[in-house]
Amino acid sequence: MSRSARTRTKKNENADDIRQWLVESIKDLWPVADGSLSLRKSPCVRTNCAACAAGEGHRSYVLYGRRGGQRYSLYVPEELVADIQLALENGRRVKDLISKAGERYAHALKNQRRSRSDM
Ligand SMILES: [Zn+2]
Repeated sequence: MSRSARTRTKKNENADDIRQWLVESIKDLWPVADGSLSLRKSPCVRTNCAACAAGEGHRSYVLYGRRGGQRYSLYVPEELVADIQLALENGRRVKDLISKAGERYAHALKNQRRSRSDM
């Protein structure tokens, strides 16, 4: 459902227009998260576990992310996976919007400069 990356920017929008567009677009994007969700297979702590003995282990979801420069991993219970996935999707949308806003902002500044020097 992603829109074309070649979406034309409006010719005479200014920084305030873009700010308004960004705030409006981000408003409903909650929850948000950054990182990735992976299915990890790991052994448990029980001594006589059939699954571990058979080499199957136990599958659990883990959220990998960064806090400052540090990587972290966080166990995610199965019933919360859908919520975390939604948060990650929204997080990607927010990043995408910021990137688009930056491009439009740069265009707006350049147009502003051009029209000033035309006077
Ligand atoms: Zn086990």
